[in-house]
Amino acid sequence: MIYDDSAEKPQSECTHDCSSCTANCSSKEKGEKKSFLEKPHELSNIKKVIGVVSGKGGVGKSIVTSMLSVLMNRRGYTSAILDADVTGPSIPKAFGVKGEVTGDGAGGIFPLASKTGIRMMSVNLLLPDETTPVVWRGPVIAGTVKQFWTDVIWDDVDFMFVDMPPGTGDVPLTVFQSIPLDGIIIVTSPQELVSMIVAKAAKMAQMMNIPVVGLVENMAYFKCPDCGREYKLYGESHISEVADTFGYEVLAHIPVDPRLASLCDKGMVEMMDNDYLDKAADKLEAMLGK
Ligand code: ADP
Repeated sequence: MIYDDSAEKPQSECTHDCSSCTANCSSKEKGEKKSFLEKPHELSNIKKVIGVVSGKGGVGKSIVTSMLSVLMNRRGYTSAILDADVTGPSIPKAFGVKGEVTGDGAGGIFPLASKTGIRMMSVNLLLPDETTPVVWRGPVIAGTVKQFWTDVIWDDVDFMFVDMPPGTGDVPLTVFQSIPLDGIIIVTSPQELVSMIVAKAAKMAQMMNIPVVGLVENMAYFKCPDCGREYKLYGESHISEVADTFGYEVLAHIPVDPRLASLCDKGMVEMMDNDYLDKAADKLEAMLGK
């Protein structure tokens, strides 16, 4: 994804918004789709931006986002999380991150860092109390997320994970349009109408020209800690058929894991010790040409 900065257009005149821009650029003349992409802070340097999406809340999008950032961090990459799930922000809690957000005095905002150095920004870090509900309308939510991208100083980040607002409505669409995602990971759970969720997310990604890195099935089964038997709590999974239909890869089948949930509740997700998302991490690593 690129900001619309074709050579014909004087960079200084372009406002990156064709509705207000006076620059006479080629994309405007040709009637091409206008770009709503926002520029990151001038001190930001982010190599890959990965959106983690889901059809609805509660399927494990945040837990997958958290685990991916931990895995990439363990592999020696600098990882960061932009928590765009403004009405259900759970990222700082999973990492036990609290504290005052500070700025550089010139409009730039510094993200907070977890114990192992994963940087993050979330509306929860800005609220006086994490139980305060965010009762904002869509445009305010979308504006906040945009600011997390444009005003936060994300310097030297190899992988930024964006915990996207759930669904395919107005708010996720605005986020999709404003942040230049390099790929998305679709998280589903077997209780959902998986094929419909994937089809919707796929269409949204296609509209925006963003590649789908793969699918993650969460809460796929439960493994009995006593006998080791696996129970499919929500019936047979159809994720593989759906993935085949769309030509996507299934990156993980994550079980219901009470220990993982408990680590998140205690703010200790960085202590996780599972290999559920290793294949996804390999795929992300390959995006950096490694
Ligand atoms: P979302 O971001 O999609 O709204 P979350 O990641 O916040 O969903 O997960 C919702 C709840 O379910 C959280 O309490 C989380 O700890 C729990 N959860 C998610 N996935 C699992 C899992 N595989 N095993 C156990 N608990 C899980």
